[in-house]
This record gives sequence, C-alpha cells and structure tokens, in this order.
Amino acid sequence: MESIADRATGAKVLEALRRSLRVDWRDYAALIPLKEDGSPFAVLIAIILSQNTNDKNAIAAYRRLRSMVGVRPEDVLSAPREVIEEAIRTSGMYRQKAGAIIGAAKAIMKAGGEEALETLPPEEVRRILEGVRGIGRKTVDVFLNVTRGVDVFAVDTHAQRIAWRWGLAPRNASYEKVSSALASFFRGQDLGEAHRLLIALGRSYCTARRPRCRECPLREVCPYPSGESRSAGQVEARG
Ligand code: SF4
Repeated sequence: MESIADRATGAKVLEALRRSLRVDWRDYAALIPLKEDGSPFAVLIAIILSQNTNDKNAIAAYRRLRSMVGVRPEDVLSAPREVIEEAIRTSGMYRQKAGAIIGAAKAIMKAGGEEALETLPPEEVRRILEGVRGIGRKTVDVFLNVTRGVDVFAVDTHAQRIAWRWGLAPRNASYEKVSSALASFFRGQDLGEAHRLLIALGRSYCTARRPRCRECPLREVCPYPSGESRSAGQVEARG
C-alpha cells in the first residue's frame, strides 16, 4: 500500500498542518474543562459527552451540566439522574452518557476520589475507567493524553479516515491498529497536538465526502488523490 510515510516524515506533515490550520482550544470539548476548570473529572465528563456527536454539542451539554449540577464526582452523585439527563440531552445518547458519567463518578470515589485520577499510575486509571459501562478505549486514550500527557494516539472518525487515505492502515483496520500506525508515523511529536490537527484537517479539507484535495496543504505528499490533484503547487510537506 502506498503511504504518506514514503513521501514525508510525521514532523514535516505536522509542520505543514500547523502552518495551514488553526487549532483553538475553544473548539475542542476535552480542552474546555482543562482550561476553564482544571479538574480531571470535568475533562472526563466532556470527553464522554463528545462521544458520537460534534464538539459544539458536547461543549453546550458540558456547560449546561456544569451550571445545573456541577462537574465534581460528588455533584454528580448527589444529583437526581433525570436532572443529569436533562442537562446533557443535546449531546445525544443522553441516557447512556448519564449512566457513564454516574458510573465513572462511583468508580472514582471508590478509588479514593478525584485526586486518584492524578496520582494513580496511568495504567491503573485506564483499568478503572475501562471498567465503567459506556467508557471505551478511545475515551480513556483522549483522557490520559490530555490530563497525564500519556503518549497515545486517540482515534476518532477523522483520524480513522485520514489514516486510511494516507495509506497508513487499511480502511476497516481496528482501533488498535490505526492508533499504533498513527503513533508510529508521528513518533517523537506531540501526539495530542497531532490528534487535534487531524481533527482540524478532517473538518476543513479531508472531509468524509468530497475531500478538498486540490487545496489541501498535504496534496503533494498524500497518496489518496490520483495524480490529478498533485499537479501544480508548492511542495509544503515533502521531506
Ligand atoms: S490530499 Fe486529500 S485525501 Fe490527502 S489529506 Fe488532503 S484532503 Fe485528505
């Protein structure tokens, strides 16, 4: 399979993406609580709310939950479930997400309270969180990368599509395969930043339908478009 790795390094690709795309923390559900509240459980809530919806809906639901209930485990456990569901309704699948948020709050209190998320070894945090119904590998990967700086590439639908178009993984590759292919391509780089830049690329150029390959900053090195969109234009990421 022809791959972007044959034409450019991960560092060069990141450089090209940084030059062309704007990454604002206000557009990323996981970063809002980190910047505004600084609490790991609040970050986890926002990541749960962003499952299967866009960040805009997740952020709106997070703010509503914060004002109606609060975003500490104790707040969640003392609120009636219906109030939590009502607060997060706009994020979709709100019953399942309310269950995951309550389940996470219980598991975290059992592990010693919110502080445990910051002090336990990351693999222990992973074990606790992955034991909660409604919390899967991707949610924990984003959480550990954002709050603990763990070197892991969280794969969302944008990253999955782009990894396939870049020739790094087959179209239906498992989460683990795509995550490890992207982590290996971007080895030595900030994987959280790479994750966010791929989301920005997927939103602006590498869309699911009709990707804008002709204007894309990676058009010279991406193997996906046929030769036609790699015609003229400056080489922005080769090397
Ligand atoms: S050239 Fe096309 S397929 Fe490749 S990253 Fe850009 S938009 Fe996506």
